[in-house]
Amino acid sequence: MDIRDGLIGSIGNTPLLKLERLSQQTGCNILGKAEFLNPGGSVKDRTAQYIVEDAERKGLLEPGGIIVEGTAGNTGIGLTVVGNARGYRTVIVMPDSQSQEKKDALRLLGAELILVPAVPYSDPNQYQHVAQRLAEKLRRESAAPVLYADQWDNTANREGHLANTGKEIWTQTQGEVDGFICAIGTGGTISGVSEYLKSKSKNVTIGLADPLGTCMYHYFRDGMLKATDGDSISEGIGQGRVTDNVAGAVVDEPFLITDEEALPVLFEVLEHEGLCLGGSSAINLAGAVRLAKRLGPGKTIVTILCDSGFRYASKLWNPNYLAQRQLPMPSWLEKPVSRDISDVLK
Ligand code: PMP
Repeated sequence: MDIRDGLIGSIGNTPLLKLERLSQQTGCNILGKAEFLNPGGSVKDRTAQYIVEDAERKGLLEPGGIIVEGTAGNTGIGLTVVGNARGYRTVIVMPDSQSQEKKDALRLLGAELILVPAVPYSDPNQYQHVAQRLAEKLRRESAAPVLYADQWDNTANREGHLANTGKEIWTQTQGEVDGFICAIGTGGTISGVSEYLKSKSKNVTIGLADPLGTCMYHYFRDGMLKATDGDSISEGIGQGRVTDNVAGAVVDEPFLITDEEALPVLFEVLEHEGLCLGGSSAINLAGAVRLAKRLGPGKTIVTILCDSGFRYASKLWNPNYLAQRQLPMPSWLEKPVSRDISDVLK
């Protein structure tokens, strides 16, 4: 029998896909971990599962409990599907700048969604601070246990990637992995995976693909928390402080990736491989190409395909949105084929 333990049993163990076109272009094996196939649609299902199971082990949650989190969306979706499966309500605080599709998904799944203006971390009304204060308030007012999930500084996040994502990559490649690269949001993925792979082989090179406008590139290149100029339309990545999850990361090769460089790679992967992915996957894929060039032909490079492009139909996959920002555009959206079929209709 091959039966999984409900929704939670279907988190993780995602396929590792060979990306043919990028592999041909670089002379390397470029492999993408298909995290968009998780039941909640992103890599953050793993974090949600790990944080919830860790809290249960510590006696911080019991059925009827409430989970509160500040999130760009995907962790909220993950916590809500896991919460539903385990008997917890979720209260999700999210910056209103995030995609409509993620907001709709959260409401559809039954989360209580609180949107706040997108302001810098230094502002007390930034979404993470609001979530933390809200959790404290609910804890005072509610008889049920309240968990502030805190994906940023709760290291159950990186432990999940250490125990699962990193191990899966090592097993799936049978140890033949020369490089791993991804972006940083909380830092859970890169720190957990880098620790696992380095524990198996010191020769695995860990790359960071950082979008413009945040601090991780400089932090890992020269130890300074200095933001790079510019910005990115990607969601869920970019970090301005050393979270407890970032603190465990080992990075050998930091790369700065612009949207102008990343988007054409994303469009190619859809056109030639059929994969429709989101903006952080674009940064990761462009990073994988850079790391392949740095390491030279014949190497195996793994990256993360974090979530699906359908989560960004109104933004990154919307030609008007791209045109307003003078960003590269997929040809089929720029000039959609419109055929006159009146002669075929009877
Ligand atoms: N991509 C997307 C779409 C995300 O939502 C996130 C999480 N914020 C990441 C990448 C980054 O992963 P991590 O938090 O493990 O650094």
